[in-house]
Amino acid sequence: MPDLMTHLGASYLIKRFLWPDRQLLAFLVGTTLPDLAAYVPLVSANLLGFSSGPAWLRDAPYFFLPFHSLLGFTLLCWLISLLFTADERLGAFLNLEAGGLLHFAMDVFQIQHGEFGYLLFPVSWKPVQLGWIGTETSLYVLPGLAAVCLMVCCLDWRRQTRSQRED
Ligand SMILES: [Zn+2]
Repeated sequence: MPDLMTHLGASYLIKRFLWPDRQLLAFLVGTTLPDLAAYVPLVSANLLGFSSGPAWLRDAPYFFLPFHSLLGFTLLCWLISLLFTADERLGAFLNLEAGGLLHFAMDVFQIQHGEFGYLLFPVSWKPVQLGWIGTETSLYVLPGLAAVCLMVCCLDWRRQTRSQRED
């Protein structure tokens, strides 16, 4: 998986230029959510020393791994969309889902999708990966991507303050 900042930067630019007006935050949350929902419990359990605990506690973080699959993530998006008002629910769901699909698309290009990268779970237990880029390649792209994102944010802010002055 590319790092979360690369996911965020690429998603921000794509959303900003394709559909800038609606639910940017839901799209950005959707693009980070597969890794956060699936891997944060696993990493946290390792840090907290669950591996030396009873079996049910040691295996509990694996319950969250299906959130890094198409079906599990779609169910998670649906659950989260229920937190929105009825008017915003469909838009929130679609933006969360679109962000997650972009996340999975970026992950697929990488050599090591992750030992738990079962994208098609429960249909298939085989990791889905093309292996075109290395595991650390996204870190080389990140500084340039962050600079472009910052420049776009500054230009948007400048345009917005100008239009407010004119009103
Ligand atoms: Zn991922």
